[in-house]
Amino acid sequence: MSEQTRQKRLPCRRCGGTHFQKAAFRQYVGGTYSASPGGELYEDGPPWQILVCLCGEPLVPHVGRSLTLEQRKSLEESLNKAFHFRRQTELDTIRLRLLEEFPSRKELEKLHESVDTLMNVLQNLEKDPCK
Ligand SMILES: [Zn+2]
Repeated sequence: MSEQTRQKRLPCRRCGGTHFQKAAFRQYVGGTYSASPGGELYEDGPPWQILVCLCGEPLVPHVGRSLTLEQRKSLEESLNKAFHFRRQTELDTIRLRLLEEFPSRKELEKLHESVDTLMNVLQNLEKDPCK
């Protein structure tokens, strides 16, 4: 058994996939004037290498000791914000939220039947108001 097969492949926590793209993420600061678009932004420190799954989910980064506590907190905060944003905008989450806020097709059909029944009662009363 080779060394690679003995080591457990890291699965994505979202989809279980095991193929990732290494991406460099940087934090930018701005506030200076520049005539060129984006020229007022500059990198604030070295890039952080993060593995990103094919589905878009980042793997928890191994940033080593090169980050200060403040930088590490900032990176974790950005990852958490991105995580919560992705969860809120996933189709399943939106579908569940819509199910909670709107009646289902079955409920609408039942309501429609109730309105039809009520309309029939009202029409019969108009035809024979003495009933
Ligand atoms: Zn994934």
